[in-house]
Amino acid sequence: AILAMPNTEPVVDSAAVLGALIERARSDAVVPTGFMAAISKDQSGEELSEMAELASAGAAAFTDDGRPVESAGLMRRALQYSALAGRPLALHCEEPTLSRGGHAHEGRVSAEIGLGPYPSTAESLMVERDLALAAAEERPLHLMHLSARESVDALRRARDAGVTATAEVTPHHLCLTDEAVRSLDPNFKMNPPLRSEDDRRTLIDALRDGTITVIATDHAPHARHEKEVPFEDAPFGVIGLETAFAALHTLLVLPGELTLEVLLERMSAGPARVFGIPEPVVEVGARANLVALDLEAEWEVTEDGFRSLSANSWLLGTTLSGRVVRTIADGREVFVA
Ligand SMILES: [Zn+2]
Repeated sequence: AILAMPNTEPVVDSAAVLGALIERARSDAVVPTGFMAAISKDQSGEELSEMAELASAGAAAFTDDGRPVESAGLMRRALQYSALAGRPLALHCEEPTLSRGGHAHEGRVSAEIGLGPYPSTAESLMVERDLALAAAEERPLHLMHLSARESVDALRRARDAGVTATAEVTPHHLCLTDEAVRSLDPNFKMNPPLRSEDDRRTLIDALRDGTITVIATDHAPHARHEKEVPFEDAPFGVIGLETAFAALHTLLVLPGELTLEVLLERMSAGPARVFGIPEPVVEVGARANLVALDLEAEWEVTEDGFRSLSANSWLLGTTLSGRVVRTIADGREVFVA
C-alpha cells in the first residue's frame, strides 16, 4: 500500500479534492493507495481543515508535510480534532526560525564548504514541543522522517513516559551522512538534511530496538530542470519508492548493520500498525499483499529505469543487490520483472 501526501496542487484540504483522488486511485492504481489530508487549510498553518469531514471522506491521516505546523495553538487543536476524526497526525517537525537559510546539516561539512547551516535543534525542538502537546492532550502522534539523535532521544523519553508516539525514518537518512553533500550534487539535498555518522547510527539503533517502527521514503519527485541548478538554489527532496528495499538491503543488510527480518517488518507491518491498516498476512483464504524478492539480483540505478516520471535519485549510477521480481496487491498480480 502507498499513502500519498497532501502537499500537491491543489492541496488535499477538502472532501471534494480528496474524493476525486480516491476515485482516481480506485480506477488507476495497481496497489492499494490511500491519501493523507492537510491539517490546515491550504497547508498555510492558519486555520484547521475540516478534519472530521475529511476523515469521513476517507482521509487516512492528517499532515501538513512539506512544512511544519508552526503555531503551537493550532497543533494543540489539531490533536484535539484528530480524536474526533479518529485518524492519526503525521508531523514534519521543523522550527522554521532555526532552519531558515539552511541547506545542509550544521556541522563540519557545512562549515568547510560554506553552506547555510540547518541545525539538529531545528528538528528536535519541534519534536519536543509536539511530544509535550501530545502528552498533555493524551493523543497519539506520528513523527515523520526523523534525522537527528536529539529527536530520537526525545522520542525515547516520551515513549518511556507513556506517550503514544511513533516515528519513521527514510532510507537516505539510514544510509548516508552529510559527507555526501561535499559533492554538491542536488540529489543529496533533503529536508531534513543528511546528518552525521552519530545521527545515522542512532537512527539504525532506534529502528532495531523498535523505538522507530516505520521506514518511509519521503518520496519527493522534482523535474530535472529544478535540480539542475547550484546546490543552494535546488529544492529539497529526492525520490525513493522504487529503490527503498534494494538500497537498504545493499547498504545495511549485506554489511550486517540491520537484519533482513527487521528491514521487512519496518517496511510492512510496522507502518500498517501506525495507520490502522490490517497487517499483511500470508494465509490460505486471505487477500495476498506480498512481493517476491530476488536477493541475489544485481542492478544499476539509471535515469531511464524509473517508472516514476522523475529521476532525482541519490542512487543514480549505483549498483544495488536485491530486487522485487513480483508484486501481488490485494490478491492480484500487478508487477512481474
Ligand atoms: Zn516532510
